[in-house]
Amino acid sequence: MDFEFTKEQKDIARAAREFAEKEFTDRAEEFDRAETFDEALHKKAAELGFIGMYLDEKYGGAGLGLVEQCILQEEFAAVDAGISTAILTSCFGSEVIQEFGTEQQKLAYLPLLCSGEAVMGSAFTEPDAGSDLAAAMTAGVVDGDELVINGSKMFITNGLRAKFLICFVLTDADNPKRHKRHSMYIVETDRPGYEANKLTGKMGIRASETTEISFTDVRVPLTNILGEPGMGFSAATYCFNRNRIIVAAQALGLMRAALAESIKHVKKRNVFGAPLASYQATQFKLADMYTWMRATKNLVYESAWRIDLGKTDPALVAATKAFSGQMAVRCADMALQLHGGYGYLADYKVNRIYRDVKITEIYEGTTEIEKTIVAKSLLA
Ligand SMILES: Cc1cc2nc3c(=O)[nH]c(=O)nc-3n(C[C@H](O)[C@H](O)[C@H](O)COP(=O)(O)OP(=O)(O)OC[C@H]3O[C@@H](n4cnc5c(N)ncnc54)[C@H](O)[C@@H]3O)c2cc1C
Repeated sequence: MDFEFTKEQKDIARAAREFAEKEFTDRAEEFDRAETFDEALHKKAAELGFIGMYLDEKYGGAGLGLVEQCILQEEFAAVDAGISTAILTSCFGSEVIQEFGTEQQKLAYLPLLCSGEAVMGSAFTEPDAGSDLAAAMTAGVVDGDELVINGSKMFITNGLRAKFLICFVLTDADNPKRHKRHSMYIVETDRPGYEANKLTGKMGIRASETTEISFTDVRVPLTNILGEPGMGFSAATYCFNRNRIIVAAQALGLMRAALAESIKHVKKRNVFGAPLASYQATQFKLADMYTWMRATKNLVYESAWRIDLGKTDPALVAATKAFSGQMAVRCADMALQLHGGYGYLADYKVNRIYRDVKITEIYEGTTEIEKTIVAKSLLA
């Protein structure tokens, strides 16, 4: 058993850290306040090979694994989770195209992502179907050689920025098997009837664009399907198993940041005539944060390593996601508490961490849904 990253993985971590520190640090607060993002930053990340590293080289990627993607996510999120989301979700769903798409689809869409020419998104959630994805109602009806899509999606990352999305569509409502009723289609966002509106006023990750989308008689060729009809749920599950670990890596980066900010603050803040760091109550908090962070790190990289070996363990993935989100939220809470009133001010990094971190318990499956997956596996 070897817990060391390889030299290549360490090089990726160093390059990602240097890029994030140089490019994110001075802009994070501005993007957070204005709920904006600078596409030039996404392009720079693409030029440095940070987009779609896990895609095959023939599609413009680096042919690397989920471990490397998690390293990238951890390093970016340790500097700013909003910007890390904006940059790294630019190819959210590309793994589904690579796994389920035809060669023609892969060549048509994936290189555009890696070069930074295009952004994509993944549209699963609906206003009345989040955790219970099989309840999704956005429907596709076959008309000649086209699918006509009607319905709406909620909370979709990059709905406006994206050139195309993968979309989870109800195509066989009468199928007695709930998990066989949907299919996954690629939908280009310039098709008539596609409309996206930005959701503003998010609590955190405000550099990342979140939208609601409506489809009114949106026509796509039947050849835009990914895999076979009825495989939508399997494709979504494939996507979740990978992205749950990427979100856990984001939580890990945020924990690292929370601990680093806390250490800095308690060393320089004096209370009752001594540094805050000198009190045991403070030290216990730091020790807890460190322990949770290290435990999360082991879970994240073991889960990613298993997926890279083709041995995905959905219960371990779900446990990793649930644990990391909960522990990251606790870490951020402790970090803010250690900052006292200063942590309550928006211009302190710890304040942003506290607001950003909550999303790691919500997207890609809430903590409760992850726990139901773990429990189901234990009781099977
Ligand atoms: C910023 C942001 C970005 C997002 N990006 C995307 C995206 O790009 N694409 C996409 O498709 N979706 C996206 N989502 C949606 C996200 O995945 C969902 O919000 C999430 O899956 C939860 O669904 P919901 O919001 O409908 O909550 P609900 O499903 O309504 O859940 C509400 C609460 O009930 C709990 N709950 C639900 N079922 C059970 C149960 N059986 N037992 C116990 N408790 C239960 C949940 O854990 C939660 O606490 C995003 C969301 C946000 C906030």
